Amino acid sequence: MTTLATSPVLDAHPRASIDEQDRRQASVDRSGYVPETYADGVIFAQDIDDVVLAMKLAHEHGAIIVPRGAGTGLAAGSSAQAGQIVLDLSRMDKILQIDPVEATAVVQPGVINAAVNHAAGEHGLFYAPDPASTAICSIGGNIATNAGGMWCAKYGVTRESVLSLLVVLPDGQLLRTGRRTIKGVAGYDMNALMIGSEGTLGIVVEALLRLRPKPKHTSTLVAYFPDENAAAKAASAVIAERLTPSVLELMCGKTLKAVDATLGTDHQSRGGALLLAQTDGYGAHLEMQALQEAIAPLAGHIEIARDEAQAQALIEARRQAIPSMELLGTASICDIGVPRHRLAEAFAGLQRIEDERGVSIFTIAHAADGNLHPIIVVPEGQSITSGAPKAALGDMFHLAQLLGGTLTGEHGIGLLKQDWLAEELGETSLALQRRLRAVFDPRGILNPGKAI
Ligand SMILES: Cc1cc2nc3c(=O)[nH]c(=O)nc-3n(C[C@H](O)[C@H](O)[C@H](O)COP(=O)(O)OP(=O)(O)OC[C@H]3O[C@@H](n4cnc5c(N)ncnc54)[C@H](O)[C@@H]3O)c2cc1C
Repeated sequence: MTTLATSPVLDAHPRASIDEQDRRQASVDRSGYVPETYADGVIFAQDIDDVVLAMKLAHEHGAIIVPRGAGTGLAAGSSAQAGQIVLDLSRMDKILQIDPVEATAVVQPGVINAAVNHAAGEHGLFYAPDPASTAICSIGGNIATNAGGMWCAKYGVTRESVLSLLVVLPDGQLLRTGRRTIKGVAGYDMNALMIGSEGTLGIVVEALLRLRPKPKHTSTLVAYFPDENAAAKAASAVIAERLTPSVLELMCGKTLKAVDATLGTDHQSRGGALLLAQTDGYGAHLEMQALQEAIAPLAGHIEIARDEAQAQALIEARRQAIPSMELLGTASICDIGVPRHRLAEAFAGLQRIEDERGVSIFTIAHAADGNLHPIIVVPEGQSITSGAPKAALGDMFHLAQLLGGTLTGEHGIGLLKQDWLAEELGETSLALQRRLRAVFDPRGILNPGKAI
């Protein structure tokens, strides 16, 4: 095992740092998990050559490497401890090319998600996968977690917007996955395999992203319901009506209170749960009318945003949901997915878990994807990885399984969801995936203990 005193990789790499503050900062993400020890050192890659050199040295010396983007992950996927070296990609943050005709962008992994959208916007285009963390997360991290976001309701998750990748393999070789064309089926889909692999198969050093034309029209609606059950049923009704909103987000009553306290808004006075919907395209207003009719029997109060500023304020309220909870204590963010017609059952199950375990659960949901984020908030300093919070987390995963769902919709398994993975995948699939991982990384040096 590599240690601080004996790491030839850190000694030999020109961008390595063993500064105490760098090591501490590079060892935690936003999951609330704090390792007992910190990484031995950090390599701040500036270009592809740095990554190739780091991996060649690591391969040669058997040093453990933990890839890191912006550290906003919620599954402790980029957390690191003693005996490990963090490979930080955040300084490789350039947009190398935008092709407005093909509607593509070539970017480095450390570029911030919102920066891609900003640059694409100048050409009348946008990059669809927009996590609520858009302003702070990196494209490399998005690719490694197959991140979702609000617009994913209509445009799909990260996998649907990445055409090709340049990857440094654990032994330092370069691999090109995917293709430049929209279609193409030659060989196995190595691109799809790499996306969502949580930094266990290779380091993403460049990506060719698919951009979409900015919709000519949008229509935004906010609806307030007496409780989460009614809001969840309304979201299911939208799907059952075969509508495809570009945004369909649900926030529970407790979340509304937290957001109101942060932003000085008053959503909570209008209902016990909120649904935020947006439609886009030439038929945006017609589709919104149909959506409104679908939810009206369940809603207490419905408002259509009068202008872009009001629509943006509503989107911002949703983006501030997790930061608002983080102001109340340490947040343990769960990420289950259920079939969309079972959303109300999921909310009822979460209520039971809250009552039985005596924990406080705030829930937001990318409702059109059936993806719920039940968030357990504990007082600062209290553990989220033991006792009632851990038991409640286990209950949530079982609830998802019971409803025919999954234990993670978009955040990944990381370190924190290992205990429940076999139950979802089954032993045959898990064993096969571990063998596949060993083909890429026979020495087991890339992000061990994470993902699978
Ligand atoms: C307020 C808030 C809101 C959020 N909202 C959402 C949301 O709506 N949807 C969503 O999906 N997530 C959300 N997240 C979670 C997080 O932002 C995403 O998981 C994001 O994709 C992580 O990106 P990152 O750059 O921070 O990656 P990191 O946290 O640094 O790393 C995440 C994983 O990717 C690996 N990795 C990073 N870069 C590379 C690379 N170049 N090559 C190979 N592996 C790499 C790491 O090893 C790790 O396993 C939210 C987080 C916060 C704090």
